[in-house]
Amino acid sequence: MLERRLSTHREQEQFQDALFRIEQLRKNILDSTYFNVATLSPDGILLEIGQTPSEDAWLQNDVLIGKPFVEASWWSCSPVVQQQLRHAIQQAAGGENVQIEIAICPSETFYRDIDVTITPRFDADHNVRYLTYGGRDITQRRQAEEEIRVLVDAIPQLVWIARPDGSHDYCNQQWYDYVGLAREQTQGMAWIQSLHPEDQQNALHTWQTAVQTGAIYEVEQRVRNGRTGEYRWFLVRGVPCRDAQGKIKNWFGTCTDVHDKKQMEEALRLSEARFKALFDANIIGIGLADPQGRMYEVNEALVQMFGYTREELLSNIHWDEITPPEFRERDLNTLRELREQGVGLPFEKEFVRKDGRRVPVVIGSALLSEESDIFISFMMDVTDRKQLEQRKDEFISIASHELKTPLTVLKLLLSRLSRKLVREGITESEKELVRMEAQVNTLTRLINDLLDVSKIQLGKFDYIDEPLVFDTVVREVVNTLQQITTTHTLCLHSTSNCQITADANRLEQVVTNLISNAIKYSPQADKVDIDLAASENSVLLKVRDYGVGIPRKYQKTIFDSFNRGTYTRKERGFPGLGMGLYISREIVKQYGGSISVESEEGEGSTFAVSLPLLTK
Ligand code: ADP
Repeated sequence: MLERRLSTHREQEQFQDALFRIEQLRKNILDSTYFNVATLSPDGILLEIGQTPSEDAWLQNDVLIGKPFVEASWWSCSPVVQQQLRHAIQQAAGGENVQIEIAICPSETFYRDIDVTITPRFDADHNVRYLTYGGRDITQRRQAEEEIRVLVDAIPQLVWIARPDGSHDYCNQQWYDYVGLAREQTQGMAWIQSLHPEDQQNALHTWQTAVQTGAIYEVEQRVRNGRTGEYRWFLVRGVPCRDAQGKIKNWFGTCTDVHDKKQMEEALRLSEARFKALFDANIIGIGLADPQGRMYEVNEALVQMFGYTREELLSNIHWDEITPPEFRERDLNTLRELREQGVGLPFEKEFVRKDGRRVPVVIGSALLSEESDIFISFMMDVTDRKQLEQRKDEFISIASHELKTPLTVLKLLLSRLSRKLVREGITESEKELVRMEAQVNTLTRLINDLLDVSKIQLGKFDYIDEPLVFDTVVREVVNTLQQITTTHTLCLHSTSNCQITADANRLEQVVTNLISNAIKYSPQADKVDIDLAASENSVLLKVRDYGVGIPRKYQKTIFDSFNRGTYTRKERGFPGLGMGLYISREIVKQYGGSISVESEEGEGSTFAVSLPLLTK
């Protein structure tokens, strides 16, 4: 019994304690600055109201108790607000929990947004006994929201807010401007229509999954520009915003224009794919290296060309190790070109393979980027071409030797025959004999030229140097050619009186070639001008003709062996093999001089040879 009483007593104490704490809590809530709480009768009479200690407290309890709540001055300033509140009280009196937002403005300087909750309290018979009114001042929150909206509108990105169910609620001005649609046209799920048809399915699926799972939504999709009709790529991100209980309140999202970036990435991807295709095609050897000679990447063609394994090339083998010493200087030159122009012009070199054999290649290089000093080299194995060239050189050398002997005999026999006929007084065949001699001379010149080209290419072209006056060489050639030229006058205008040390026969070859060409390529003209001039360091010869001239595009290549301007070969039928200028340039080069041409098509050409006075 005592125990029972004690326990009842303890329960009583606990009950009292709980009541006290509830009362304290209720008072705290009632007295809260931001939350005004009142008790109303079901017909809207104010029974009790919490104190509002803040300065702008807008409820004054003394005045109101016992009167209809809706008639308080702060509501009565707006019949609409009064009506809203009256309706809410009626609903609550009917047993519903009611929540509404109302805006009051009792004076010009006073404005409030209030979040109103009216909750019915029931008695044991489930009749509404009284109503609890809660009024939360959300003015600052609304202002902050408005500020956020202004801020969001100022963001260059497209911004959107969606409801927990995934339907779009709000988008910033940039979105409407971009898609060119009014607010109601992109509300809910209508935004999908602004996406590229190919992206709609994926966007919808990903969005629905995100809404269901609460995972971050991140998709690249094309959005249509309403003004231009163009679709641009956007990175669309949506992040769920949760309340204290972790429930999603809404989604905040942005659309960032990544079109240019994406296109650049695409271009980069394409170019990488193309490069990879080129790299893997193995048509030519490709390697990446740095100026120190370390190799970073090599393709299969290069591996085959060098005879080392890829691993050996990338870890142990140094560029210099596989470059024969005579090509190192040229390699340094390429590194200079790469530094200065970003490109190393193609040239021929050799590499030493693992088995010791040499492989001739044409190699061209380019710096990969300005930031790094890694460069890429393209190498073409020219072994076959080299072998062919060698065979050609050997053939020319053998053929010209073989031709020269019978021709010398023929020339000898011809002059013997000619003398015999003169002695015997037979004159009928004189003309034919002269023509035969001329043909044999032309043939001899051609064969001599062939022999010279072959000697130059085999490095066996010899020079017998002696001191000489250059004018003498020129004058002798002019005199000789003038005797056999009936069509042109060779006008030697000036003198230089320069003494040089050189091979007279070789210089004669040069001058003969220039003057013969001047005559040959000016069939309509009747003179060739020849000038000599001396400067402090050199002697200059100019041969000017008034003939067909040389088109600009051929002017560089006519000095290469067997290179003839097609215009002279095809259209005009000028005889020749394209060896004279090549031999002339080699001879002039031997003495440290230069040879050049200035020409206008149809107006003739001027060839200039400059020889330094201090020749060896
Ligand atoms: P070839 O005259 O035997 O063809 P060259 O080496 O002497 O060989 O000349 C090479 C080419 O240069 C000629 O085929 C011709 O096209 C061009 N050329 C040389 N000299 C002249 C010139 N004076 N006028 C026009 N074209 C010339």
